Amino acid sequence: MVAADILARLKDAAGSSGWTEDAHEIAPHMNEWRGRWRGHTKLLLKPATTEQVSRILAICNETKTPIVPQGGNTGLVGGQIPTQGEILLSLARMNRIRAVDVQDDVIVAEAGVVLATVQKAADHVNRLFPLSLAAEGSCTIGGNVSTNAGGVNVLHYGTMRDLVLGLEVVLADGRVLDLLRPLRKDNTGYDLKQMFIGAEGTLGVVTAAALRLFPKPHSHTGTLIALAGVARAVDLLNRLQAATGNLVTAFELMPRIGIDLVLKHIPDVADPLPRHKGWSVLVETSNPRAFDAREVLQEALLAATSDGLVADAVIAKNERERANLWRLRESFSEAQKLEGASLKHDISVPVSRIAEFIATVAPLVERALPGARSVVFGHAGDGNLHFNISAPVGGDAALVAARDTIEDIVHDAANRFGGSISAEHGLGLAKNAQIARYKSEEEIDAMRALKRAFDPNNIVNPGKVLPPEENR
Ligand code: FAD
Ligand code: ZN
Repeated sequence: MVAADILARLKDAAGSSGWTEDAHEIAPHMNEWRGRWRGHTKLLLKPATTEQVSRILAICNETKTPIVPQGGNTGLVGGQIPTQGEILLSLARMNRIRAVDVQDDVIVAEAGVVLATVQKAADHVNRLFPLSLAAEGSCTIGGNVSTNAGGVNVLHYGTMRDLVLGLEVVLADGRVLDLLRPLRKDNTGYDLKQMFIGAEGTLGVVTAAALRLFPKPHSHTGTLIALAGVARAVDLLNRLQAATGNLVTAFELMPRIGIDLVLKHIPDVADPLPRHKGWSVLVETSNPRAFDAREVLQEALLAATSDGLVADAVIAKNERERANLWRLRESFSEAQKLEGASLKHDISVPVSRIAEFIATVAPLVERALPGARSVVFGHAGDGNLHFNISAPVGGDAALVAARDTIEDIVHDAANRFGGSISAEHGLGLAKNAQIARYKSEEEIDAMRALKRAFDPNNIVNPGKVLPPEENR
């Protein structure tokens, strides 16, 4: 319970329109997307400036008052939820784009700017900001930095870590670390900004980021390809990269069951290859002006078909058809949610082992819970699979009961295959205990040392990311 005088000081620091105790206003911030974690708090702070964030953290640090940063509340591992009654710090009002520079190809955006707004601002000056994910209409730059977000263009442009040139961070004690230098090269000692990228708000609060801009592709070509088998996916990717000169920017794997769930639950989505019962990939190329993607793709797909990699393919003829392909892919999570209970796993393995991984793990899951439906999809070009499991028909309770067993099956296998138990969503509260099982003592000790160094009073997002002490 936070004392009344501390609450009063925090409100004062946030300014008169920078806080609320109104339960109705607070409520949507307490529930995350899947409804797995619920939070509670007395006070929601919504500062509009870095100075206000600084004053707030100084007070929290001095009074040892825990505080949880939140951006768009689209995180999938519970990191943004104050489950222990912590103060909630929403960055949503820090929503200014501070600068757009086409000479240096950099955009400086505050933490609360919604990702889609940054994409539009880049487009407006004929540039591309390539981070793209299904939550882009609500997730924020601060959240993207703090989770090192991935999404569908990582294959070509990398994760958020690759897109950040500089950061402004408020440290746990309230001091402001100005690392906003938009330099491409800077070897002046430790690269401190890297500490905060992917830290999920446990080392400080990101208030602004300088982000890389890229040339805007002249056009995009979307193609839906029916694979002869999932084992052919990597060969196909390599061939398409060779044929296009590395212009493939997205390579998204989709199983039949996932497409069927989308068709069942999401209106106005068409399946251009309805007779194909196996695996598909959605491939996108980003084309420079003088490049005929259709011709090159047609030729490469013809060869891949006669070599037995591809069963069928359709190249989108226009923007409407391309948008439909993306709607098909990006509706997977929503469709799975509407189908009933599901477990999400966000693993990565070396791309060369994707097919073997699926062939090994899906039967293990189905043995642990007969009728469980593996809906495995995602960013195959990065080796990142959303190895999601839908409940047996009518068996939501059985899935919930089997959650820990299934999670261990999937994560143990990812570890055995030399992979990761969290490719892009982070650890939050969902996997912080599990990492004790997969990371060495040395690695976890080093993480704890970082946390102690940046946040000695354990006030920013306590209890997230690191395993609870009893798990070591
Ligand atoms: P929040 O959910 O508010 O917070 C996420 C974490 O960051 C929390 O730990 C929070 O404490 C911390 N945080 C937030 N802002 C700050 C800040 N300013 N300073 C310090 N810490 C902060 N993710 C992917 O990587 N790839 C995908 O393809 C993808 N697809 C998704 C699809 C859907 C439909 C949904 C709902 C989510 C998806 N996500 C995906 C997950 C999510 O969108 C990302 O993790 C996103 O980066 C979170 O941004 P946010 O602003 O919503 O952050
Ligand atoms: Zn993803």
